Amino acid sequence: MSVTSLGIIGSGQLGSLLCQAAKKLNIRTVVISDDKEGPAQNYSDLYIFAKYDDKEKIKEFIKKVDVVTYEFENIPIDILKSINKEKKVLPKPNINEIVQNRKSEKTFVNELGIKTTEWVFIKSSNDIKKNEKLLPGILKTNTLGYDGHGQFVLSSLKDIKKDWCFTAEYILEKKVDLKKEISVVVSRFANQEIYVYEPIENTHQNQILKHSKIPADITDEISKKAQANAVLIAEKLDYVGVMCVEYFIDQNDTLLVNEIAPRVHNSGHLTINAFNISQFENHIRAVCGFNKEKVEKMSNAEMVNILGKEIEEYRVKSFNDAEYFFDYGKNKIKDKRKMGHLTTLKK
Ligand code: ADP
Ligand code: MG
Repeated sequence: MSVTSLGIIGSGQLGSLLCQAAKKLNIRTVVISDDKEGPAQNYSDLYIFAKYDDKEKIKEFIKKVDVVTYEFENIPIDILKSINKEKKVLPKPNINEIVQNRKSEKTFVNELGIKTTEWVFIKSSNDIKKNEKLLPGILKTNTLGYDGHGQFVLSSLKDIKKDWCFTAEYILEKKVDLKKEISVVVSRFANQEIYVYEPIENTHQNQILKHSKIPADITDEISKKAQANAVLIAEKLDYVGVMCVEYFIDQNDTLLVNEIAPRVHNSGHLTINAFNISQFENHIRAVCGFNKEKVEKMSNAEMVNILGKEIEEYRVKSFNDAEYFFDYGKNKIKDKRKMGHLTTLKK
């Protein structure tokens, strides 16, 4: 089947950058989003504003596309599965189902013999008390977390609040004494070919990615292991598209999987300028059934995320030839919101 029209669920910066990559490949994009002001409407060929459970609008969306992908993982799984009955959804809905849930995600990774942080599933404060050995730790909502939302640091049992009612499910993770964070972006194609980008070194501020760079300052051994784990995960999931594995490296140089993103990833933005084929283009190629193209690194690079009000100074700044400023064109400036990024190519 040759794909000429790609459906994208979600309309933020990842959706926008996917639309731009699709344009380069002559693929039409239809974006569906519950955000009236989603910036991807500036780049898509068609924009459908709808709640994700609006059956009529979903039907209209399905009619207009050959294949469907998504820019974020927190989409109700039933909706992905029902779309998949009519038009193929890639990455496959069952992959999303595994990784949008921290418990099933970590269980899956652990069963492959790959280390994660130490963790337990939590349903009550009593469960936390039984697992005091994981403190200091981080309590995370089992689903729907992003950019640190739904996370609570617990230094000791005293931090458990009496009024916590545990209406949602949680996991408790031991707090890792971090040496570094890295991520590996991998693209896997329908014919099972794989391209894995080199590890990217990441710095977070308040649990939000602030800075990424290549090369990552890590040993060859860790670099190879991080890439090999990401490839193994993609293969076991029979993944088609771009996926990112986020890792922690602790003070003993132990490599731990933090989480898997079943989509293009913020840390991979620097691939737009540092490689001949970006993560966005590779994702479009993979989900639209193209074969793998030769990927070449053009340059080392660093990326800084521009959050909230910081965008104002960037909008009036001038840049040199090695600097690439991306303004996501979001109408409202909100504190800590990702508003743009700057990639700088390095020697
Ligand atoms: P999100 O789904 O919001 O991206 P993550 O689990 O990736 O959540 O956490 C965001 C960031 O918070 C991580 O990249 C890391 O900097 C910090 N963090 C999360 N869990 C831990 C942990 N167990 N130990 C140390 N730092 C952590
Ligand atoms: Mg994360």
